[in-house]
Amino acid sequence: MLPIIIESALFAVLVTAVGALFFAALLRFTPLGVRWRQVRNRRLLEREAAHNCPRHGLQREGALVRLRDGQTMCPTCYQEILDGKLD
Ligand SMILES: [Zn+2]
Repeated sequence: MLPIIIESALFAVLVTAVGALFFAALLRFTPLGVRWRQVRNRRLLEREAAHNCPRHGLQREGALVRLRDGQTMCPTCYQEILDGKLD
């Protein structure tokens, strides 16, 4: 019984390793990998741009105010809008 369990575990490890190697090669050596990295870079830059207020600088993600339409806003700008200080 024990050899069957060990053989099954080793087979599962082999399938996982071959799948990981195939996935890594797919991302490194094909245009799909380049496109995937480009999309990841775009999302990263968009996320950083969403956290950067032109007036108050970089804001923490947890401090941003989410508006009803789903966009986020700098908390200082939001407070100024509520107080009527901003256009
Ligand atoms: Zn602001």
